[in-house]
Order: sequence, then C-alpha cells, then structure tokens
Amino acid sequence: MEITARQFREVRVRFAPSPTGPLHAGNMRTAVFNWLYAKSAGGKFILRIEDTDAERSTEGYSREILESLAWLGIGFDEGPHYQSRRMDIYRRIIAPMVAKNRVYPCFCSAERLEEDRREAEKKSRPPVYPGRCASIDPEKGRERTKTEPYSLRFRIAGDDLTFHDAIRGPVTFNLHLMGDFIVVRSNNIPTYNFAAAVDDILMNISHVIRGEDHLSNTPKQILIMKALGFPPPVYAHLPLILAEDGTKLSKRHANSSFRDLIDGGYLPEAVLNFLVLIGWHPADNVEEMAADDMLRKFALESVSLRPAHYTLEKLDWLNRQKLHHIAPERLLMAGAPFIKKHAMAFDALPLHSKLFLMSAARENIARLTDLDAEMTPFFEYAPEDGLKEGLKEYQAEAVAAALRGANTAPDIAAAAKAVQAATGLKGKTLYLPLRAALTGRLHGPELKYFYGFLSPPERERRIGLFLEYLRS
Ligand code: GLU
Repeated sequence: MEITARQFREVRVRFAPSPTGPLHAGNMRTAVFNWLYAKSAGGKFILRIEDTDAERSTEGYSREILESLAWLGIGFDEGPHYQSRRMDIYRRIIAPMVAKNRVYPCFCSAERLEEDRREAEKKSRPPVYPGRCASIDPEKGRERTKTEPYSLRFRIAGDDLTFHDAIRGPVTFNLHLMGDFIVVRSNNIPTYNFAAAVDDILMNISHVIRGEDHLSNTPKQILIMKALGFPPPVYAHLPLILAEDGTKLSKRHANSSFRDLIDGGYLPEAVLNFLVLIGWHPADNVEEMAADDMLRKFALESVSLRPAHYTLEKLDWLNRQKLHHIAPERLLMAGAPFIKKHAMAFDALPLHSKLFLMSAARENIARLTDLDAEMTPFFEYAPEDGLKEGLKEYQAEAVAAALRGANTAPDIAAAAKAVQAATGLKGKTLYLPLRAALTGRLHGPELKYFYGFLSPPERERRIGLFLEYLRS
C-alpha cells in the first residue's frame, strides 16, 4: 500500500527526546534540524518529552534537555508536552481500536515470547510475533482480560507499505516481516510507537524529522495513524552519525554527550554550526555560519543520505573561528564560568576591565577552557620554567632596567619607544624581554593588554621580581 502524506497549511515539527539518559549530541542534531526547518519555513517548533517509561525517565534528564536547548539558543514555540501527563488521552484513544478489533489482547507470557524468538532464530526466520492470540474470539478475549495479564497488539493487514521520505525518497517495508506489534504493555503503559503516533496526529505535526535509527518505527506509526483515520505527516530521516573510529556514534565515544561539549569549552554558536553540518552542507560551501545564514541556506531536500561524520576537529576549527570574531561582551558571558583560578579577583574587576581582558584572550584561545590559563599572568606573576634559558640571547636585564625608567609612559608603544632609545634595541630583541619582564612568559596575549591592565606599581613590582630572577 502506498501512503500519501497529509496536506498541511502550516509547518509544525517536533523534537521528542526521551529523558532516560544523558542527552546525546545526536539528539541535539535532530533538535537543530527540526528547529532550522521550522524557522526557515516560518513554522512552529514543538518540544515533547517522551517520558512514558516511568522507571527510566528522570526529572534531571528532562531538565538537562531544556537547559541544553536554552544553551544552544533554540527556543520552542509550544510545549514542553510531557507524555506522562497524557496517559488518559492514549487510553481514551485505544478503547475504540479494541472495540473495532484493530487491536487485540495478547496473553502470551514473556517466557512464551522468548521461546518464539529462539525458535525463529533456530529456523533463521525473522523474530516476528506468530499471531497466537490474533484469532481469539473478541468476546472471549474480553472475558479473559478481566482476570489475566495482557498486552494490546496492533493487527497488521496487507503485504507492504510504501511512504515517501523527504530525504531518501520512497521507502518500502514488507509487513510480513513486522508482525502484530504491541501498542499497550501489560502494565497499561502505551509503547513509544503508539504514543508518538497519537501525539503526532493530535499535535498536528506536519513533518517528522528524526534519526535514521527510527526508520523501522515509521511503518508502525503510519499504520496506527491510518487505523485512527488520519493521513501521516511527511517523514524525513536524518543520516546516521559515525564516530571517528567509523562505528555508529554512541555514548561509549568520548565527547558524544551534549554535556561534554558544554563542559569542553565550546561556544554555543560553534556547537550549533557543528551540529548543522552533520549530514548537511550549504550549497556555497561556506561552512562557518551564523544562525541567520543557516536559516537562509537550509533545505531539507539537500540533507545527505550518506552517514555523516562526527569530527571534533571541525568543531575545534569552528570554535576558533567564532572566538576570533567574538564580541568581548559575548565572550564574557560564555566564558566567565570557565575562569576559576582567579574567579574572585576577576569578578571584582569593573566591567570595562573584564571586557579588556576578554579582548586580550579571544585571539589566543581555542576553547573557553583555555581562559583560565590565559588569565593567570594578569593576576599572578611567576617566571615560567625555562624563561632564563629562553632569554639567553637577549639583553633582558638592560631592557628591564630601561622599562623601569619608562614605567610612567601612558601606553606600551610609548614605553617601548623609551626603552628603545635607552638600549638601542628593537623588534624582537626589544619586545621579547619586555614581554618576559611584564608577564613572566615568552608567549601570551599582546603586550598592550598587560601594560594597560597592570597598574604602574604592579608593573614596577614585576620588573623588580624579574630583575631579581635574572640575577638569581
Ligand atoms: N523518544 C524518541 C527518541 O528519543 C523519539 C523519536 C521520534 O522522534 O519519534 O528517540
């Protein structure tokens, strides 16, 4: 049977994570593609928390979903709808399906089903429910439900089902390989397939955009919708994500949880840019994009069919690009939680000094986790290991002594000019010892930032310590 998707007046998509574990980067890729599609089509992005599994779902994981979307800058237009609060709806909808015999009670025990599975395996047959309870007389079945535990199964009719996937084109499933599937478990909780199908109808979802791992669920959900008398939405299955070792990205892989990316010191805008490139590429090949660029360039039809790679190198590159152009105000907002060692001193600074330090840092850091080390020489002075060795070829003592004499100069350019006049040195032979004297290091942010940030007495103190160090 060939399925035609419903006509829709408005684009309405949903992100429907299950709060049963730490949020995965793959989940967030799905969220990003849904959000982009909705926004680029002027539609709505709906958040639905699929928490029907009471044992495995936690409030903490639900909160993580909300916080992660907020962190990424993805707002939803409706929701969050919690499926655990919609149980009455599912039960009300299943009742007429039972009455119409589209769904039937199954009394097979877990042991019995396990035996079926082993038997099928022995005979190299697909593990399909053999339909043992399908032919129980409905009246008798109803009687038995009063005293026996049972689940509810959907009765499959027909040979095959074809639907049109917006990314992969027509996809056909052989229904004989599927078997009547469970829609309500013996504990009276609807299965994912049932609750998702019902909600996609009730929430008027126009497009279901989700990972390829859900492809095999799609015919089940379409059958449920059809039985309820509704045409299904358009489906689009995003390509599989492969880790760097070539296997499917999973929680075993380092940096695959969304938390890892937040804690790893990546900017939200870099992560957003990174996620959208997992399985999609802009036609103009300009990979670094702001959200606006993505919205302008995105097209669901141009999402790739091929498995996509999760390459952290790409994320590192994007992060550096974004950091390079970032406004100090933005870096301060994103980076402040990463300043730990000198948090108190940093927090006590006036805003303009904080922004000044952010301007100094943005050119050198690759991640926000580098900020702490980058800030350190502004707040403490200790000649780094090997400093003396690194200055062997330089006239460091003469430069430092001359700098002491020029310490009242208004900026580093004027101070350097005075030191140059006093020593006759210039270029690197001048600037490297100046840097060493003021920062205790051979590398780091531009010198103008140190000179501007440190008070004259602090500069004086550092020069004194530097000279002592050189003579020690
Ligand atoms: N709760 C499912 C998941 O997290 C949702 C799949 C879907 O989008 O239908 O994988």
